[in-house]
Amino acid sequence: MTCCYCGGDMAETTTTYFEQLENMIVIIKNVPCHKCGQCGEVVYNALVAERLEQITEQLQKSLTEIAVVNYSVA
Ligand SMILES: [Zn+2]
Repeated sequence: MTCCYCGGDMAETTTTYFEQLENMIVIIKNVPCHKCGQCGEVVYNALVAERLEQITEQLQKSLTEIAVVNYSVA
């Protein structure tokens, strides 16, 4: 896989996903992704992106200010 920004090599790894919503901050750890070794650009595949959306949606209902979850168990 090649980075669409700089053309560098993208390696399979995991990352911590942050999302700031209106009333809360969502942190999802150990999210599988591809990361560029040159510029650090991170991409998620479609399945992962969908799952992140689902997790975020669920967490929004919990009314906590900061939610930290692990991707693999969320
Ligand atoms: Zn890159």
